[in-house]
Amino acid sequence: MIKIDHIQKQFEKNEVLKDINGEVNKGEVVCIIGPSGSGKSTLLRCINQLETPTSGAVWFNGKDLTKETAQQLSTLGESIGMVFQNFNLFPNLTVIENLTLAPIRVKKMSQTEAKKIGMKYLTRVGLAEKADAYPASLSGGQQQRVAIARALSMNPEVMLFDEPTSALDPEMVGEVLQVMQELADEKMTMIVVTHEMGFAKKVADQVWFMDGGYLLEKDTPKEIFDHPKEERTKDFINKII
Ligand code: ATP
Ligand code: MG
Repeated sequence: MIKIDHIQKQFEKNEVLKDINGEVNKGEVVCIIGPSGSGKSTLLRCINQLETPTSGAVWFNGKDLTKETAQQLSTLGESIGMVFQNFNLFPNLTVIENLTLAPIRVKKMSQTEAKKIGMKYLTRVGLAEKADAYPASLSGGQQQRVAIARALSMNPEVMLFDEPTSALDPEMVGEVLQVMQELADEKMTMIVVTHEMGFAKKVADQVWFMDGGYLLEKDTPKEIFDHPKEERTKDFINKII
């Protein structure tokens, strides 16, 4: 479904991604792990075209995203949902307005239909009663669940998560991971940058270890965590667990 094909990304002289290759199949969960600055966020941003790779291609359902026009991309963009570390909710809009904005503006959905779909996803993340609240009145965990519901209300084919629980107080991490686990159980295709090794072990089909701009090792969670092949992977896992 997604094929990352010799992606290289350079910011001026700084080569941040070095010949990255990988494939994500429909219904799969890929967890990306690795030290700070290794290029995890940049790789996600290349996949959803927030960044343009310096060279290489990102194939999505047989189309090279790096070669699509802006118009085609905005249509394709609807198929890729993204959840950020810091939620990125619109503070001046209520929860339900956060969810209905893009479906109304981008998908030209009627207010009534967008609201119906929005409420469906809010209910699914357990926050139907917060529809008319403003983001600032919610806990971090609740805000992140709203951000997930907002991404889902565009009916994406793939969900990308960039450290979705890193900004949360520890007691709120579980509720967000729970929602993500449910999505995985429903066979949503997901790419998750995370430091939650328990989640990666339990939920991932593949774990990708990045270091210094390289995708150094990719394998099943069992192999990565129990039998890492690269020294750098071993060091990282020993440090983090
Ligand atoms: P972290 O775990 O801290 O989030 P990361 O693995 O997500 O790290 P990236 O954010 O992808 O790492 O950054 C990789 C490298 O690219 C870093 O050296 C960073 O400074 C650089 N970088 C990222 N974005 C830009 C940019 N827009 N302009 C210049 N350099 C950038
Ligand atoms: Mg990052």
